[in-house]
Amino acid sequence: MSAVAEPAIIGALSPSRAGDFMTCPLLYRFRVIDQLPERPAPAAVRGTVVHSVLERLYDLPAAERTVQAALGLLEPQWHRLLDAEPDYAGMFADDDEQARWLDQARTMLERYFALEDPRRLEPAERELYVEAVLDSGLMLRGYIDRLDVAPTGDVRVVDYKTGSAPGPDFEGKALFQMKFYALVLWRLRGAVPRLLQLMYLGNGEVLRYAPDEADLLATERKVWALWQAIERSLTTGEWRARRSRLCDWCDHQAHCPEFGGTPPPLPARRPGDTTAGGRRRRAATDEL
Ligand code: SF4
Repeated sequence: MSAVAEPAIIGALSPSRAGDFMTCPLLYRFRVIDQLPERPAPAAVRGTVVHSVLERLYDLPAAERTVQAALGLLEPQWHRLLDAEPDYAGMFADDDEQARWLDQARTMLERYFALEDPRRLEPAERELYVEAVLDSGLMLRGYIDRLDVAPTGDVRVVDYKTGSAPGPDFEGKALFQMKFYALVLWRLRGAVPRLLQLMYLGNGEVLRYAPDEADLLATERKVWALWQAIERSLTTGEWRARRSRLCDWCDHQAHCPEFGGTPPPLPARRPGDTTAGGRRRRAATDEL
């Protein structure tokens, strides 16, 4: 008898944290290595609430998945989140601001119904946590909003975005996350998903892409190159700050040399919980 040795896990990466490193290595360090706290961002928290409404919507019998039912789920889901994260109440200056924020969430849910009819769909999975260890020992993991499986066995990966669709120059970045999930599913299930579908509830657009094996192998090489760059930063202790318009939304300017700040001393911590099956709750800083 022979046993196939599992590769030792050398680290873990999710699309959101990979995106952080590509945006700004120092941001990745602050989030993953220093684990500095961040203030809740109203747009990200609204994304969490809209995602949980769309997840719960499919608990209902098909005929009851109406726009009224989705709107009726909104406030209960918001209060459920608030019970778990009482700090979120501090995001708003007053009740009017919170009411406007909820109204924007209602608009997003209404837009969702203009894009597809949930009464005609029966998702195979919702909020699916996936992880796969590559031959290199790097674990890829993340949350897939929805997985649809056709009677033919074809798989469609669906992701809801509460922002607007990117321009052509940024489509590649948006698709990176989806190819990342497709790669994980390919490794887990042995088949390349047929379609990747991003649904932008901020402006009602849908981005679709049919990946092939060559795409996913290229994604694997890209993820590996990214991990090697992270390893170099871990070894050298150099985490480059990369200034961009995203700095306007960064919570760490006070620690960032680009803004006259000084990073805290580096803790002795490796990226991620590298234990297989180490599922955690989805955070507002994860892709939404
Ligand atoms: S402020 Fe900008 S450059 Fe500085 S850590 Fe944040 S994203 Fe990076």
